[in-house]
Amino acid sequence: MLEKATYPREKFCAGGVGARADKLLKTIGVVVDVPSVEFHGIAFRCQYGELVGREADIGRVVRRKQFDHELARQAQARGIQILENAPLGEFWRAHDGFELETPGERIKARVLVGADGVGSVVRKRLGFISTRYLAQALELDTEHVEGDLPRDVILFDFTRSDLPGYYWDFPTLVDGREMMCRGVYLLKRDGEPSPVNIQAVLAEELSARGLQLKDYRQKRFAERGFEPHRPISAERVLLVGEAAGIDPVSGEGIAQAIQYGATAGRYLAGRLADGKLGFEDWPMAVRRAAVGLDLRARTAGVDLFYGPRRAAIERYVLRYPEFLQVGMRYFGGKPWGTQAALRAARGALWHTTKAVFGGTRVERT
Ligand SMILES: Cc1cc2nc3c(=O)[nH]c(=O)nc-3n(C[C@H](O)[C@H](O)[C@H](O)COP(=O)(O)OP(=O)(O)OC[C@H]3O[C@@H](n4cnc5c(N)ncnc54)[C@H](O)[C@@H]3O)c2cc1C
Repeated sequence: MLEKATYPREKFCAGGVGARADKLLKTIGVVVDVPSVEFHGIAFRCQYGELVGREADIGRVVRRKQFDHELARQAQARGIQILENAPLGEFWRAHDGFELETPGERIKARVLVGADGVGSVVRKRLGFISTRYLAQALELDTEHVEGDLPRDVILFDFTRSDLPGYYWDFPTLVDGREMMCRGVYLLKRDGEPSPVNIQAVLAEELSARGLQLKDYRQKRFAERGFEPHRPISAERVLLVGEAAGIDPVSGEGIAQAIQYGATAGRYLAGRLADGKLGFEDWPMAVRRAAVGLDLRARTAGVDLFYGPRRAAIERYVLRYPEFLQVGMRYFGGKPWGTQAALRAARGALWHTTKAVFGGTRVERT
């Protein structure tokens, strides 16, 4: 593995990890034991009200600096060589793979996995430029204020209907201190300019809590949403994680990156064994895997959550708490619960029917 930074390295991220990611790591015996805030509920807030769903052990908030370092350490303990401070620069095709240039040395590789995040050098070099779902996220860590939710609940606040995204409050631990990670996620589609200024939105949210933006260190970074029909492979090259694309609705990408890893591991083992290194079927392998099903469903949800039907969707979520319950159980890697899923589906059907036919007057003749 080539890593451009040196561990422990910073990664701007709120660090909310769904328990399904930890469960997946556990299947290969990996437990990332770092200071965390476990949460047992998710609050959904919008212009029509607030719903707090409770479900035990659905995830935790970590500091990525610690989480990623520990994950890398465990990989090294299993014999995986990580070259730190080794950014991949240029790379060239050779007759049996690639030659990779790093500042220190040239490395030969049979295949290349671009797991290099939103700014992926590998993706750029493949020429896979796309701006369908690009997002911005801006975050900072503050002390607690009155009105914050309990520390075992994470908040997603969709109240601002002019924001294609949301404001969040995630309880976090900064050097052992109980703090709150607050931030704004803003999705941009098709390269359109932002409808709102993300910094102004965060400043307003902070001010409503008696806090001032200028008093905190702001951390801003881009995110890339998954597009089901865009290329994510070439001969001997795979893209995974945010280099390929993560959830455009929420910007959640940690669990997805880990799921991509599991899918790519199995896929590569097969391809290296049979020697078929064209990788034309990698997009199909992703689409069929748990991560692809997750991302396709969420990508289909972009226009629902941030389109003209947003108000109806928000009212639906408030009216059918089963939807949030199913979401929390999925996030936590638990079975959905048949009754809750059925009630949520029935509610969705009723709402859709009402939305489609509700405004149509049928006149008898
Ligand atoms: C502000 C913010 C908040 C977020 N909050 C959450 C959250 O709460 N929960 C959640 O699930 N997701 C969250 N995300 C998304 C999440 O951080 C990413 O989707 C996730 O980290 C993607 O994982 P990855 O391994 O694909 O990429 P990354 O985590 O970005 O890792 C890429 C790695 O590649 C290295 N690298 C990059 N270029 C090179 C190069 N040329 N050569 C060698 N190495 C290179 C980097 O140093 C890095 O170690 C957030 C994102 C942002 C910006």
